[in-house]
Amino acid sequence: MEVNPFEMAKQQLALVAEKMNLNSDAHYFLKRVERSLIVSIPIIMDDGSLRIFEGYRVHHSTIRGPGKGGVRFSPLVTLDEVKALATWMTWKCALHNLPLGGAKGGVCVDPNKLSKRELERLTRRYTAEIISIIGPDKDIPAPDVGTNAQTMAWMMDTYSMQYGNTVPGVVTGKPLEIGGSPGRSEATGTGLFFVIEKYCEKEGLDLKSMSVIIQGFGKVGSIISKRLYENRTKIIAISEYYGTIYSEKGLNIDELIKWQESGKLITDFKDDSIKLIPNEEFFKIKCDILIPAATENQITEHNANDLNCQIILEGANGPTTPKADEILNKKGIVVIPDILANGGGVIVSYFEYVQDINAYYWDLERVNKELKKIIINAFEAVYKLVKEKNVSYRIAAYMIAVSRVARAIELRGIFP
Ligand code: NAD
Repeated sequence: MEVNPFEMAKQQLALVAEKMNLNSDAHYFLKRVERSLIVSIPIIMDDGSLRIFEGYRVHHSTIRGPGKGGVRFSPLVTLDEVKALATWMTWKCALHNLPLGGAKGGVCVDPNKLSKRELERLTRRYTAEIISIIGPDKDIPAPDVGTNAQTMAWMMDTYSMQYGNTVPGVVTGKPLEIGGSPGRSEATGTGLFFVIEKYCEKEGLDLKSMSVIIQGFGKVGSIISKRLYENRTKIIAISEYYGTIYSEKGLNIDELIKWQESGKLITDFKDDSIKLIPNEEFFKIKCDILIPAATENQITEHNANDLNCQIILEGANGPTTPKADEILNKKGIVVIPDILANGGGVIVSYFEYVQDINAYYWDLERVNKELKKIIINAFEAVYKLVKEKNVSYRIAAYMIAVSRVARAIELRGIFP
C-alpha cells in the first residue's frame, strides 16, 4: 500500500514534535496548510476538442516569508501530494534560513502526451487561475517534475501580461535570457554534491573510492551523476521508470547525458560493460551511496530491508517513508534527508529572486560560492545536532527547521 504523502509529512512532524517538546499550539498550527486552491483548467486541444485538467497551488506556511515551491506536471499529482510537498518546502526554507515559506503546485496531466502548443495553453491558463495567490511578495513558483525553464517563461509572461509590466521575480528557474540565474538548472545536483563531499570529509570517507546508484536521471539525477563523475566517483547503476542499467566498472556519465539529450533511452546506450536489470532489483544493488532522485514513496517498509548501501542521499523530495526510516536506522544506514541534501535548488532560486527584484545579476562563480556557504552552514548545524543528541540526520534537520518556524509564529502572534 502506498503511503499518503501528506500523512507521511504529518507523521514526520509528529515524531520531531515529540523529540523537541514542540509547543502543542505550534504543532496544531503546522500540521495544517494555510491555503489550498483547486482549479479547473479548460484547454482547447489541437484537434479542437475541449479537455479540462485539475490543478492545485498550496501554501503550507508563509510565516517566514513568501511561499516558495515548484510546479509539478504529472498524471500522479494529487492535492495531498502537493500539500506534502508544500510542507517539506517550509522546512527546507527554514533549515537553510531563507526568508521564504513553503508552497507547491501541480497539474494532474501527462506533459508528454500534450503538444508544445497545448502545454503552453495549459501553463498559461493554470497561471491565470492561480494568479491571485502568486507574485513576488506572495508565492514564487519554480520548476519541478515535468516542468522546466520554458514552463517558467510562460508563467512569467502570463503573469506580466496581466500586471502590465514585466515581473521576472514571480517565478524562478527561468531561462537566463529573461532573468534566470546562472547555476539554477544545476543547483540541486551541485548542492547534493557539496553535502555528500562534506559528509565524507567529516566521517573520514574517501568519496572517490565509493560506488553510487541513482534512481531517476532527470534534472536532479543527471546533475548529481555529472558532479560525481567529474570527481571520479564510480556510478554503477542508474534506474529510470522504463529500466535500470548496471556497470560494475562504472558508467560513462558524460556520454549518457549526451545520449539522453539526443532523445534516446538510457537503456539503449551501447556499452559492453552495461547489463540491463529489472527495476525491482535496483534497490538491492550493493553500493556505498544510494541517491533516490525520482519521486516520493520509493523506499518503504517493503524494500528497506533489501537495501545494501551505507548512505542514502535524498535527491528527491520524500523518497523515504517514516516506517522505512525506522528500518534503515536499525540497519545503520545513514539517511541524509531531502530538506538538507536537495536544498541547492531553492537556495539558488532564492538568489534568482533576489537578482530579479534588484535587477542586478551575479556570475556563476558567485552563485556557486554563496550556494556552498548556505548549504554547508545547514549541514554543519545538522551534523552538530546529530552528534550532540544522538538522533538521525532527518530528526536533527527537522528540529532546526521546525523550531525556526515555531519561533516565527511566536514572534508574530496569531492575528487578530
Ligand atoms: P525530472 O522530471 O527532471 O526527473 C525525474 C526523473 O525520474 C525522470 O527522468 C523520470 O523518468 C524518473 N522517474 C520517475 N519515476 C521513476 C521511477 N519510479 N523509477 C525510476 N525513475 C523514475 O524531475 P527532477 O526535477 O529531477 O525532480 C526529481 C525529484 O527531485 C523530485 O522529487 C523533485 O521534487 C525533487 N527536487 C527537484 C528539484 C529541482 O530543482 N528540480 C529540487 C529539489 C528537489
